[in-house]
Amino acid sequence: MNQIANFYRTLHQDWGSQNWWPAETAFEVVLGTILTQNTAWTNVERALSNLRAKGKLSIEGIRETPLDELEQLIRPAGYFRQKSARLKMFVAFLDARYGGSLERVFSQPTVALRAELLALNGIGPETADSILLYAGNHEIFVVDAYTRRLFERHGFVAEKARYDEIREMVEEALLSPPPFATCEVGNLAQRPACHEPSAVSAAARSELAQRFNEFHGLIVQLGKHYCLKTNPKCDACPLGRFLR
Ligand code: SF4
Repeated sequence: MNQIANFYRTLHQDWGSQNWWPAETAFEVVLGTILTQNTAWTNVERALSNLRAKGKLSIEGIRETPLDELEQLIRPAGYFRQKSARLKMFVAFLDARYGGSLERVFSQPTVALRAELLALNGIGPETADSILLYAGNHEIFVVDAYTRRLFERHGFVAEKARYDEIREMVEEALLSPPPFATCEVGNLAQRPACHEPSAVSAAARSELAQRFNEFHGLIVQLGKHYCLKTNPKCDACPLGRFLR
């Protein structure tokens, strides 16, 4: 088995499913992918909670809420003017190209839809791929700073490797490891706390999309709890034995 698949299997056996993304609808995921740009998830939760409390956590809610009101509701997520504009822009794109239907958006082929998303202002590869994988259940892997750090430290990619180089490397490596569902969960004592299953995390998707979903969630946990920016905890890390 290739080394990346070994990472996946080791983390999944130790920590099990991560139940990512914590959302009740695909549109809530889209909101989360934009709100989480350059901020911690706890801040995103506060912004989403404000939107939920006002009944604005929907396509209609974002469409109908005046920009200045939206800015105040999502203020806890930071960059609130920029992000409000991006939320409005996404809904305008949805309306103009797909009649306001996320189902129609996600029925498009992955490559074509990815290009459309990347053409939107403020939607980079990580946000586009998060939307495709977590809201649309497309078979694409999300690369974030934790992913880059992991593969740089283990010598798989150079320091300035392109986003798509890392994405394609992982996608190829995970094409055919054992299905995640057959893994037994061990080492629960050292398992970082994860989200409860949500409507989105439990939604039906292909086995490959589920594998990409789980591996990204596991890498996020790894980056938060072991593969820290400074002073990584390699001695206690489940991937420590793979370090040369
Ligand atoms: S903490 Fe160390 S062993 Fe774990 S993933 Fe990072 S570099 Fe590898």
